[in-house]
Amino acid sequence: MEARDILVHACCGPCSTASIERLLDEGWNPVLYFSNSNIFPEEEAERRYEALLEVAKVYQLEVIAELYDHESWLSFIKGSEGEREGGARCEKCFTYNLGQAAGKARELGFTHFTTTLTVSRFKNSKLIFFVGQQFEGFECIDFKKKGGFDRSVQRTRELGIYRQHYCGCEFSMQ
Ligand code: SF4
Repeated sequence: MEARDILVHACCGPCSTASIERLLDEGWNPVLYFSNSNIFPEEEAERRYEALLEVAKVYQLEVIAELYDHESWLSFIKGSEGEREGGARCEKCFTYNLGQAAGKARELGFTHFTTTLTVSRFKNSKLIFFVGQQFEGFECIDFKKKGGFDRSVQRTRELGIYRQHYCGCEFSMQ
């Protein structure tokens, strides 16, 4: 493992575009990690994974995928199903996914990991950093900064990849 190798929890193809470009610009060697058992239904998770594979091909990056286990995610967030988006349910959701990424980073010998979740204008980067910092090796990178969100929209359009219309879980579909 090299000093600048970083495992990147990738939530979807669109958010990964600008995040990858920024990481490469800043001298990191990203490896993408798709672990998003929050996404419902499973076909939607598969669709987002396919979009990520297209992005990885463009930037010539490796992708590691975790098994989909929505039941496990549902038990983790139990009691917070009805919370508003951005609240307690989402904090638990970030904890679940970033915990998985931290575990995978440790298993594979990565000393750094981060997440593309901060690209979205609809996600609170401070909350993501608060959660991420509970795990060793987390890098607080706010990918929506430096024009990241706009760049992700532009690249998604250019590459013609699938962009979802809801955050991910069944509770975010309304
Ligand atoms: S709205 Fe998004 S971040 Fe919040 S719990 Fe659902 S999938 Fe996770």
